[in-house]
Amino acid sequence: MQALTPYKDAIDIVKEAGGEAFEQCYQCGLCSGTCPWNLVTSFIVRRLIHQAQLGLVDFEDDDLWLCATCGACVARCPRGVEIIDIMRAMRNVVAEVGAAKVPDSLRITAKNIASAGNPQGEAREIRGNWAEESKVKTFTEGTELLYFSCCVPAYDPKVRRIAQATAGILNKAGVDFGILGAKESCCGESIRKAGNESIFQSLANSNIQAFTESGVSKVLVSSPHCYHTFKNEYPALGGNFEVVHTAQYLLELIRDQKLKLTKELNKKVAYQDPCYLGRHNGIYDEPREVLRSIPGLELIELPDSREESICCGGGGGRIWIETKKGERFSDLRLEQAIEAGAEILAVACPYCMLNFDDSVLTMDKGEIIEIRDISELVWGAI
Ligand code: SF4
Repeated sequence: MQALTPYKDAIDIVKEAGGEAFEQCYQCGLCSGTCPWNLVTSFIVRRLIHQAQLGLVDFEDDDLWLCATCGACVARCPRGVEIIDIMRAMRNVVAEVGAAKVPDSLRITAKNIASAGNPQGEAREIRGNWAEESKVKTFTEGTELLYFSCCVPAYDPKVRRIAQATAGILNKAGVDFGILGAKESCCGESIRKAGNESIFQSLANSNIQAFTESGVSKVLVSSPHCYHTFKNEYPALGGNFEVVHTAQYLLELIRDQKLKLTKELNKKVAYQDPCYLGRHNGIYDEPREVLRSIPGLELIELPDSREESICCGGGGGRIWIETKKGERFSDLRLEQAIEAGAEILAVACPYCMLNFDDSVLTMDKGEIIEIRDISELVWGAI
């Protein structure tokens, strides 16, 4: 076993992140018992929390990079320990000193985000290209709503359909909306959880400045990760905007009869609660109500849903780290959906879509089940 390496500021950084409840951990191990990693391998969260209490960070410990920040452990901890903040602080200690043990793919992603403003390292100028076919205007002062698609649909052709379906719906409902294209940067949620606090601060300040200068007051997002950080983390940096996720906004449009869903979808559909929409922000009912509004659709509940939902594996920067076959939570979840009889697994998060699409492909289940974002299903029902 590698020796633990004390880093001179580690105690202060980790203690500050852990807050007062940090000292209260009594090593009961409920966090380890709840963690989805223990469905596929062994990951003792309790051990890392104990090390953090001692102010020690093992720079060589691969386990430091496993946490997908799904929040299942935080929900179960009887002492109110903010386990995710402690993981983030320990990663920060390692990342900020440039230790060799930061996974290579994460190091490359951090460089891409720092230089190009997106994890893929694509040019800023093409960020809004997805919107050309969808006739989306540039947001200007006085536009009612900013649509922020997230970097994944903006740059990844496999997931672009989320942004295009959303824009199609907004156009159909007569919503006055626009995008900021090249002025947008990654929201920074995941890179912060991966420990790169300085990059997060720079991204957040850049977005806050771009939104404020453009006169944005309300932001619609497709990603629960953008939702979480815009709503809960940007205010501390001076960014105060009204934030809505597409699940909430689509339901509002349906209830106000601005959208009429008339085309039937005679399929059994299961819904995957994204961690950052469900556990982190308490939004469980809206996406289900949207799905129930689609004529013919039969909504079925997965085991372990809502508060107990199993993560797709993409949070906490894990979306940029290769997960070995046999250890992918999305494979387990896909099997659960198939077992429950679902023909479609509905998602409300671009990371979920990437992971589940990959599971369908690698498990060769394309003839049994398909992955669809709720926006695509609504767009298909109009
Ligand atoms: Fe400590 Fe909470 Fe984990 Fe128990 S569940 S070991 S109190 S962090």
